[in-house]
Amino acid sequence: MTIMNRRDLLKTAAISLPLIPVAAAEEIQKSSNGLPPLTIQDAKVIATSAGGHYRWVFLKIVTSEAGLYGIGSAADVFQDMAVIADLEDHLKPWLIGKDPDRIEDLWQSAQFRTYWRNGPINNNVLSAMDMALWDIKGKRANMPIYQMLGGKAHDAVAVYDHQQGTTKEECLDALQKSLANGFTHVRIQLGGYGGGGFTPQGEGNRAEGGYQGPAFDEEQYVDTIPPLFEYLRAKAGFGPKLLHDVHSHMTGMNAVELARRLEPCQMYFVEDILPPEQLSYYRNIREICTTPQAVGEIFTHPLEVVPLVKDRLIDFIRNRIAATGGITPVRKLTALCEICGVKTAFQEGADNDPVNQLAAYHIDLSSSAFGIQEENHFPPIVHDMFPGMAEIRKGYLYDSGKPGLGVEIDEDLARKNPLGPMRNGGAYGTGRTIDGTVWYP
Ligand code: MG
Repeated sequence: MTIMNRRDLLKTAAISLPLIPVAAAEEIQKSSNGLPPLTIQDAKVIATSAGGHYRWVFLKIVTSEAGLYGIGSAADVFQDMAVIADLEDHLKPWLIGKDPDRIEDLWQSAQFRTYWRNGPINNNVLSAMDMALWDIKGKRANMPIYQMLGGKAHDAVAVYDHQQGTTKEECLDALQKSLANGFTHVRIQLGGYGGGGFTPQGEGNRAEGGYQGPAFDEEQYVDTIPPLFEYLRAKAGFGPKLLHDVHSHMTGMNAVELARRLEPCQMYFVEDILPPEQLSYYRNIREICTTPQAVGEIFTHPLEVVPLVKDRLIDFIRNRIAATGGITPVRKLTALCEICGVKTAFQEGADNDPVNQLAAYHIDLSSSAFGIQEENHFPPIVHDMFPGMAEIRKGYLYDSGKPGLGVEIDEDLARKNPLGPMRNGGAYGTGRTIDGTVWYP
């Protein structure tokens, strides 16, 4: 709905105006180009599934202006029931009646509301509120969010493709396929995450009566992955931008050695070579090689990023917007990246949703720190459920051109596709080494 439509509605529809003192209401109207003051009248949790790992939770914030609402993503596939309860029982009663125009004020006060701050669920909840508030502000201004963040810093948002193969030949075929589809940046995995470092199920020297599943071996991974990329460079040249996700599988000097051995392959970046528990080793990597480092997929606290960025120990931040509290905190981290010469490569793919995808997109499009965004290849039902969702064409992501985030949710279709039963409580799998020690998944 456009501003013109809403203004027409204001003239004709019965609108419940918020209870704001006349002088304050006049001040608000002056500072908002004549638009009336608003209050939040409702906050509706929308939980839906597009199948498989697409278990999504959204918040729809409804304002006192007829037809004006915003949507935000609180998706957390591993703990979605906790996020739903938090939104319904804790955020919603606090949020109703507040002024949706005051995004920064609401973000700060919502954060302090729980006294204990940060962590995935708190930040999923903050994110849903924050994205919905930016969506409302954009619709009210009749502008896409990137315009309110400073306008386009590039023509579009480049995205990298994700490919994998079980052999180096399959990886080369997959790379060629992505290049043929117009992608210039391709992330390549040898099988799944950690692939190339596993001793297969039941093989190897196991302890009596011990663990028999696939067993991760750091040194094996360090020996396997660099030759894969040497092969890809030999066959495809140095034109394609190649990426690889270590998925936090390395520790200490093995991470340093892997980065060093990959240096001749001129990677675009190596992702999460260390787990968030071992970030100090980024300094060792920096001292020994130039392999660019992308970090932060499982960060939730902005302070996890800040030391790495300010000391220029990494090259890309990789946070998921919905896990970090929304557009408001991530645009600040992005500004720090601009100052420090670090780039952004926000995490998408996996279980991410079209609303979170667009939140990342608007930050990317408006920042000179933008490097690359991860792709999403959604199934057809998602395109029906989210009218106006972003589209990838020849390696670039484009928004719908509509105000706010630019995407809507078909609530009828969402209702017809509820969250199904969880397997194992929604848990992520457990990685182990050959002697049965728990390892980074
Ligand atoms: Mg990753």
